[in-house]
Amino acid sequence: MRYFPVFFDLNGQTVLIVGGGDVALRKISLLERTGASIRVVAPEIAPAIMARAAAGKLKLAIREFVPGDLDGARLVIVATSSRAVNRWIAKLSDSRNIPVNVVDDREASRFIVPAIIDRDPVLMAVSTGGTSPVLARRLRERLETLIPARIGEFALWLKALRRGARQKLRDIDERRRYFEAIVDGAAGRRFVEGDSQGARRIAQQLLATTSTAPRACGEVTLVGAGPGNPELLTLKALRVLQDADVILHDRLVPAAVLDLARRDAERICVGKAADKIGSTQEEINALLIEHARQGRRVVRLKGGDPLVFGRGGEELQALAAARINFSVVPGITAALGVAAYAGIPLTHRDHAHSVSFVTGQLGGQDKEPGREPDWRGLAMPGATAVFYMGHARLDHIVARLLEHGAPPTRPAAIIVQGTTPSQRVITATLATIRGISSGANVESPALLIVGDVVALQSALAWFGADAAIDLTRSA
Ligand code: SAH
Repeated sequence: MRYFPVFFDLNGQTVLIVGGGDVALRKISLLERTGASIRVVAPEIAPAIMARAAAGKLKLAIREFVPGDLDGARLVIVATSSRAVNRWIAKLSDSRNIPVNVVDDREASRFIVPAIIDRDPVLMAVSTGGTSPVLARRLRERLETLIPARIGEFALWLKALRRGARQKLRDIDERRRYFEAIVDGAAGRRFVEGDSQGARRIAQQLLATTSTAPRACGEVTLVGAGPGNPELLTLKALRVLQDADVILHDRLVPAAVLDLARRDAERICVGKAADKIGSTQEEINALLIEHARQGRRVVRLKGGDPLVFGRGGEELQALAAARINFSVVPGITAALGVAAYAGIPLTHRDHAHSVSFVTGQLGGQDKEPGREPDWRGLAMPGATAVFYMGHARLDHIVARLLEHGAPPTRPAAIIVQGTTPSQRVITATLATIRGISSGANVESPALLIVGDVVALQSALAWFGADAAIDLTRSA
């Protein structure tokens, strides 16, 4: 290591810049941020430097450099157009032990200037030891993409937390653990994402619990995995999956999505298929709470959107009751993903003005009164109805719609494993679709869409269109 990295406090210190052109100007713009007192010496001065002098931001001597200019300087930057003059000034500075940089002349320089990322007060500096400015810039660009935009504010917030920590936590190890839990954990993540209030709340909880149980502040993130195609995950879902310690997922979440999670994350399938038995909801709630209480980053991963027919609401209620921190990452719900991949616009100015998401399981086996959907509304012209978990009760749904005034010619479609390579689209009408769940070999997951917009499908299909089965005209 030839160059020793330091961060030099220049506030109020005199920096001499010899040269008055564009190169000098670039250095001045940077130095201005430090609060240095800047002196510029050159016989010719660029207008932007003149303007700064007029505004009192720097001192100007419009003449050739003389050795006396070095008096009182803490740092010298040389940027004249003459290499010989540059080297002479560098030698003079060096002989007086004043650190000197000659722009673009590493050999003549005592110090060199790194490529920087300035997110004040956080400052990152990259140097290739003067071997390649291009490489240094590329490295800096890569770092830029890794460092959160709010890292500077984050640092200031951490500083502000120090007083409270000193008062409450006497022990230096406790304080270190407290700050580690903030920087590595949910509080830090929330802060850099812009949720300062959430971050503050978690930091307060941490402060209250640090001495007794330093890692007692896990968090649950309820994440929507989208309708099956892993490309339909959100960027945020991907990031959360890559941060997880443990993932509790439904059966509906495909392996291709789970593959995107952090390799060492523990994966627990708590899946319930509609007809099969899995963990009960109480067991799932208890597992979420238990893992979070161990201080782990828990991801609860659900197909589609977690708050659409996914019991996400119930799980959040359980977490809230247990005072566990949680957040939600929405996902593309099956209706939206599947309709898009089937080529069915859910609304259309000429054909549909509303769209309803309905569960086909309501009024199910136990037939609780008052839980039937508004069949009259769903049967209205200009309404699109999307039934989740509906194909097992297809005949019941079709009968109710017909009873409530929907015409037998109303287009309807069943889409199986939508958005995936196995997608199949079966289009029909209310009159012809009955009974096809057995005939066309419909397996889960499948979505039923009823409405005039379904007629557009034959013209708008774009994904796996070969797999479409048209039963519109069959008796
Ligand atoms: N939370 C999920 C829905 C869970 S209910 C969401 O927002 O999408 C499960 C039902 O969703 C299935 O029975 C089926 O009706 C529907 N579904 C989910 N993924 C599907 C897919 N890829 N193709 C067709 N239907 C799907």
